Amino acid sequence: MAEPKVTAAELCEVTSHFEEVRNRIDSICQKMHVDEGITAKLKHCKRELIVNFPVKMDNGAVNIFTGYRVEHNTDRGPGKGGIRYHPDVNLDETKALAAWMTLKCAVVNVPFGGAKGAVACNPKTLSRSELERLTRRYASEISIIIGPESDIPAPDVGTNPQIMAWIMDTYSMNKGYSVLGVVTGKPLEIGGSRGRFEATGRGCAICAQLAARHLGISLDKATVAVQGFGNVGGTTAAALAEYGSRIIAVSDSSGGVYQAKGLDIKSLLRHKKETGSVRDFKDGDNITNAELLGMKCDILVPAALEGTLCTPNAASIKAKMIVEGANGPTTAEADKILHEKGIFVVPDILANAGGVVVSYFEWVQGTQCFFWREEEVNERLREIMDNAFHEVLEVSQHEKVTMRDAAYMKAIERVARAIQIRGIFP
Ligand code: GLU
Repeated sequence: MAEPKVTAAELCEVTSHFEEVRNRIDSICQKMHVDEGITAKLKHCKRELIVNFPVKMDNGAVNIFTGYRVEHNTDRGPGKGGIRYHPDVNLDETKALAAWMTLKCAVVNVPFGGAKGAVACNPKTLSRSELERLTRRYASEISIIIGPESDIPAPDVGTNPQIMAWIMDTYSMNKGYSVLGVVTGKPLEIGGSRGRFEATGRGCAICAQLAARHLGISLDKATVAVQGFGNVGGTTAAALAEYGSRIIAVSDSSGGVYQAKGLDIKSLLRHKKETGSVRDFKDGDNITNAELLGMKCDILVPAALEGTLCTPNAASIKAKMIVEGANGPTTAEADKILHEKGIFVVPDILANAGGVVVSYFEWVQGTQCFFWREEEVNERLREIMDNAFHEVLEVSQHEKVTMRDAAYMKAIERVARAIQIRGIFP
């Protein structure tokens, strides 16, 4: 099959992700007759911190890195949200991601607000000790706003449990005692939760199962294409394969792989670990990312970065349903196209909320110093996802709106109510 190359259909241009979130918040607030002051509050981030900090590299040079930590809203509880290490991050993207966290926590009704952090860097090119020094310095720089009761980071694209451990240790060293609750997604040995690593993917698979049931698609016969094969895409693919679905295509940043009979996800995960990409897998054909998006399948899971489903490719999508593993994968324009095509979309703030749900469990377990069995974690995760999915579905049917608008309505109703009850200080 064709060699992967970036085609016009893959180029998505989004000038401002935060502007897209603001516009949607604005239109949903108008639809719901939310008070103007509350609407204005939701359209702004509470705190935006930019830090430029030096890191000593292995060769002795000192490089300056730029990082961000944004708290969008804390009316329902501490700010909550991951930290992203990626070369292309910026303040606008971090603000959008923080706002999505506010809405996500509200949709699944966990008592957190929304926040996000990022450092512009390429973690793949840093040595382990450079990564540790960068992380510890960034953690120190943002320690003026993070804390177990104010703002709680977690992993996101480019970060992992080890990075969370360094953040927890740096924060704790400055406090003089161990603070388990300052980050989630930690390794088990230092207060992490069982099931946290897989939680986002498990939550996505649960949403796919619920949506399939709703649409009358039997999951054990369904075909699936997954864009992105990191933590979220990899776990979702593995979970759906366990449910009996056929994962016919998977892609990552270097291209994709296709197998009509269904890919063996366990050996594809091994192949990715060994070679760094899904391409050239022995039991599949190489395809491009655009080919994956346009593939005839039942379920499409975009689990890479934001803005990957956009006007140039939305019209080519043939999936019956989309389960958004990534944050903000669909642009506003593409969303309209998908709706016109009758594709059922489980929106990001619901579909990928499993991660923050188990982050909440981790925070609760750490606070109580009492840790749960994995089955207990998974059972509670399923209960929350099931409730949230059906609450959103009910709004969608009652108000005759898309699942995305319904999720925003449910979330905004909860946050607006919290703002209203608390009142405006002073
Ligand atoms: N980064 C994940 C997300 O976007 C998890 C956030 C968290 O657990 O706080 O939902």
